[in-house]
Amino acid sequence: MSTKDNSDVPAVPERDRPWALFLDLDGTLVDLVDHPDNIVVEEALRTRLETLSTLLDRAVAVISGRGIDDLDKHLTLPGLAMSGQHGAEWRDSQGNRHIAQHHQKALEAVRQRVSEHVDRDDALYLEDKGASLALHYRHRPEAGDILEPELTALIDEYPETLELHQGKFVFEIKGQGYDKGVALERFLATPPFADRCPVFIGDDRTDEDGFRIVNAHQGLAIKVGTGESIAASRLTDPKAVHEWLDRWITQLQHS
Ligand SMILES: [Mg+2]
Repeated sequence: MSTKDNSDVPAVPERDRPWALFLDLDGTLVDLVDHPDNIVVEEALRTRLETLSTLLDRAVAVISGRGIDDLDKHLTLPGLAMSGQHGAEWRDSQGNRHIAQHHQKALEAVRQRVSEHVDRDDALYLEDKGASLALHYRHRPEAGDILEPELTALIDEYPETLELHQGKFVFEIKGQGYDKGVALERFLATPPFADRCPVFIGDDRTDEDGFRIVNAHQGLAIKVGTGESIAASRLTDPKAVHEWLDRWITQLQHS
């Protein structure tokens, strides 16, 4: 029976079967900050991830909206499996990098046309992540209403290839058919993740795609923070995630 004050805080996984661990970064392992470049990755977090990777036979991966180059810049764990850009690129546990190709030609055409627009406007910044584009307009918030129909019309020229997402002062243009669930399933189809039960911890709406796959595999889906979620379990913040992971490490080391 669950207790009143921590009813959906999950117990650490039992050792009765092999587990694979998937983790979002921003808002899950590190606190959200004003600018994505300013996240703080403490040495203890790197050690924690390396220890878990060893204890789980390398079946640990970070799954993020960031690109892998960006993840590497902050995490500096080149041996860790990762999926970036919401599943459009990934690095397997042997260190091989892969990038989705089917939408690259369309993306190149859009990149060209959006660049021309951005070149004429100092307040806009186009971030090229390789498999996706992010058009930032935080320096002119009112530009959002003008850009939205323009970008929608542009993306509509590439049906079933590209899609447009609006975030906080950013438009993201990415290949259709990728999300964190796709990223997670791809890992689960290959060693060392295959035939393991997945745990996924995330904080955002985009993590729900990952939770869906985890639920389908009878795994453990953990939502960080408040807000609606299909995850059955909750942790309050990155600090609580660290503590939970440390409890799991202790259990793995002592049983
Ligand atoms: Mg997040």
